[in-house]
Amino acid sequence: MNVLLHTCCAPCASHCVLALQALGHDVTLFYANANIAPHEEFLKRLDAVRLLAERLSVPLLIDEPDHNAWLREAANGFETEPERGARCARCFRYSLCRTRAAMAARGLDAFTTTLTVSPHKHAPTLFQVGRDLDATRFLAIDFKKRDGFKHSLQLAEAFGLYRQSYCGCEFSYRNENSVPKL
Ligand code: SF4
Repeated sequence: MNVLLHTCCAPCASHCVLALQALGHDVTLFYANANIAPHEEFLKRLDAVRLLAERLSVPLLIDEPDHNAWLREAANGFETEPERGARCARCFRYSLCRTRAAMAARGLDAFTTTLTVSPHKHAPTLFQVGRDLDATRFLAIDFKKRDGFKHSLQLAEAFGLYRQSYCGCEFSYRNENSVPKL
């Protein structure tokens, strides 16, 4: 299948691309991260994703970010939620909704997300969001299984990829000291 992979960052994507290819899929990266603040950080992570796309010879699509829209639609009223709370589920929905729309617009077969590779992201919540959006075309894959996270760290080092120290939005940046490295 032709799979559109919502890509949160290059280190997480590294393992996911190889895992999807091992399953026989063709992968296109979709960098859709309106949640990331400040914009300089969005660009820094994008540079690393560009490098990864080159190294793995996979296409990359970039979703123009609208952080104000993300604040309105995902974060408004949920600013004080902890990570893994209600704001994060809304954030997942925001990005996966855009991924699903991009998949459909380009005539691709399926979509999924790199987010499950992180031990700090709740895979069942991501699966629920993906299935709610499109149960027939969402691939519910928990990429952290079979040492996926460890593999992503090894690949990030091998490729020299930038690894961020906070999840992405300003609310996770505020709590940077309590946010594990992804
Ligand atoms: S902490 Fe991460 S997952 Fe949660 S809302 Fe912020 S960017 Fe999204």
